[in-house]
Amino acid sequence: MNINYDLARYKYDMEKCVGCKGCVWVDHIYMPSVEFGIKCASNIYNPFDAYAYVGRSKIGLAVLAGRLDYSDKLLDVIYKCNLCGACDAGCKRNLDLELLSVLESLRAKCVADGKGPLPAHKAVADHIEASGNRFGAPRKNRLQWLSPAAVSQGADLIYFPGCAASYLDNSIARATVEILKRSGQAFATLADQDYCCARPLLDAGLIDAAKKVAESNIRAFAATGAKTILTSCAECYKTWKVDYPKLLSKSTQDMPYTAMHLSEFVDDQLEKGKLRFTRQVPLRATWHDPCNLGRLSEPWNHWEGNRGKFGLLDKPKEYRRGTHGVYKAPRNILSQIPGMELVEMPRIRENTLCCGAGGGVREAFRDYARKIGEKRMTEAGSIAVEAVVSGCPYCKENFNNVRSPSEKGIKVYDLSEIVLMSLAD
Ligand code: SF4
Ligand code: SF4
Repeated sequence: MNINYDLARYKYDMEKCVGCKGCVWVDHIYMPSVEFGIKCASNIYNPFDAYAYVGRSKIGLAVLAGRLDYSDKLLDVIYKCNLCGACDAGCKRNLDLELLSVLESLRAKCVADGKGPLPAHKAVADHIEASGNRFGAPRKNRLQWLSPAAVSQGADLIYFPGCAASYLDNSIARATVEILKRSGQAFATLADQDYCCARPLLDAGLIDAAKKVAESNIRAFAATGAKTILTSCAECYKTWKVDYPKLLSKSTQDMPYTAMHLSEFVDDQLEKGKLRFTRQVPLRATWHDPCNLGRLSEPWNHWEGNRGKFGLLDKPKEYRRGTHGVYKAPRNILSQIPGMELVEMPRIRENTLCCGAGGGVREAFRDYARKIGEKRMTEAGSIAVEAVVSGCPYCKENFNNVRSPSEKGIKVYDLSEIVLMSLAD
């Protein structure tokens, strides 16, 4: 059993929940309104404790003790959660409990007990094994959108587009490559070793399979001799930066690469004067903080200590509280775009609402994912924006799928597309 996904190790984190529901509600210090007061995506349409960490902690304890059978309803409760981490960041305002690790470990236990994942997750895992991508698309098409002339073999930076930008929405990958070109940044790819990052396997609780993919991807990266892996996908970014070290019982700083999101790259290039915005993009826009770029992207610090009496730790531990996610870079970028008016939604940063697609919900509960996305678009509509910008292809896809008639005037963009619109030729 992988130490970081062993439910038994998190008994204290389940037992010590005091039922305050700081894991459900937006931080009380700046509660924006009752309408936008919930940050647990899972609890919005199922307002019962079972569909929030507060109830899942009791369920985890019961599963661990063998006091609950795996009914269809139980699996629904366990998997209808976006693993968005809003609960984890919320609870850590008061208590140092590892909520997200509990939720991930509960899925790993379902799999270990032969009851998980759900059939939809199993189908995605089969796609990954057969074709190297979550959609089951032909492997040979993966980098087909990319001209070989754009690639500089031996470059220090590897662009890792991920499954979504490779197969679902090429415009993000193309825009990213053009941005790299305009800034004069040489890049290479993992070429025929380019493969799914393993995020869907982690979401399903298939920890051993995810670890194998992590090891293989890291090997492929090491063979290039590069130092940085750049992604335009928040899910891939968090997987390389946080989950690979977590799977391998290491810390982010000990990995043989630096993971960088496109927003961090562009922000840095703007500051160095290597990129310059000259074209007007006259839009009133808002930034949607993707969970995997914001509160979930803090570095992973490996810890192998134990809890003693009164929950005291025998070794110091650094907690990830969601406050040091990538929040500034995208806002810096968008606020420099000529003609753009950047305004904020009520739920931002650690309190952002998941787009609805994350945590395997898109795969297993497509309509439910859409409904959560609809809530987020309603929130965007409440501040009268013309555009929602995000840094994750899955947010873009989910928002585009869910737009309700009242929000039809709102366009959805990826950050790469907006940046490219404003760059000098
Ligand atoms: S915030 Fe923490 S202590 Fe409060 S209900 Fe949620 S998990 Fe329990
Ligand atoms: S991870 Fe997100 S959706 Fe799941 S219980 Fe926590 S806040 Fe709710």
